[in-house]
Amino acid sequence: MKEEIYNQLHLTKKGNTYVGNLNGVTYSLVDVDMGTISMKGLMFVFNHSIQNETRRLIQKKIRNSVRFSTFKMKNDSLIIVLPFKLFKKEEEFNEKNNLLLCDSINAFQFYELHQYQECVICHKVRHEEKLDYRVWDVSYVPVHPKCAADHVKDVKQSVEKENSKSNRLILSIILSLVGAFVGLIPLVMILYISDAFYAILYALIPLGGFYGYKLGKAPRKTYMIYIIIIISVLIVVAFELFTWNILALSLDYTLSGLLEDSTYQYVFLNELLISLLFLGIGIFISWKLISNTSDKQINKIETLNK
Ligand SMILES: [Zn+2]
Repeated sequence: MKEEIYNQLHLTKKGNTYVGNLNGVTYSLVDVDMGTISMKGLMFVFNHSIQNETRRLIQKKIRNSVRFSTFKMKNDSLIIVLPFKLFKKEEEFNEKNNLLLCDSINAFQFYELHQYQECVICHKVRHEEKLDYRVWDVSYVPVHPKCAADHVKDVKQSVEKENSKSNRLILSIILSLVGAFVGLIPLVMILYISDAFYAILYALIPLGGFYGYKLGKAPRKTYMIYIIIIISVLIVVAFELFTWNILALSLDYTLSGLLEDSTYQYVFLNELLISLLFLGIGIFISWKLISNTSDKQINKIETLNK
């Protein structure tokens, strides 16, 4: 985006983010994931959840895509997706962006959406300190500098404590295996009933693995993601081998004997490939949760002290 647009949207740089304040309404510039492409959007945080109906009405009123996001409570933030420039003239485009921002702010007032006027950590306005606006992950919110500093200290301490428990890794891996296995059960049941694949159910395998790992309380460093993915793949391959073993036995064959037949071999490989592909989709669906490592948690709050 060009400087000119930042000016039109009243955005100024703060750390690695751009933030804005127009007539007391605050927002930040965020990336919006639209499937295969990434767009820019303005994120507004409110101190309450927003009904889907309200979001739809705002969308209609400003004639622009409005998406939900979550800061503290589910759907407590709205993202106004900024339009593409396409063939518009520079001036016309800048004006359009500015108008969109003003319309959005008016719509928030019209539907009585309220932003935080109090510290998002202690929920008090009055304090020995004045409120300051800080970037928390991608949100721009008011905090007391001391509340922010204390919060950062707390998170870092709990991460340090967690990271010192590397002796719990074996337990976490075992529980992750158990969790991934439990996650496989709904899929197995559906397969036996309807003989159909459901990609969404494959997401339960890495999710089960994640919760198992978490239960074991080992450090949630980047290697956790690899452990969960490897365990999920192992579970899917083992399940495939298991069902084919049963099939082979029912035909009075051993599995390796059955797979010598090129037709069976083809079907087996085909099924295995589809399962792994579906698992890939499952991992993608659960990515936000399973990639929530302690490094990421620290990154999110790093800007709170600035
Ligand atoms: Zn506070």
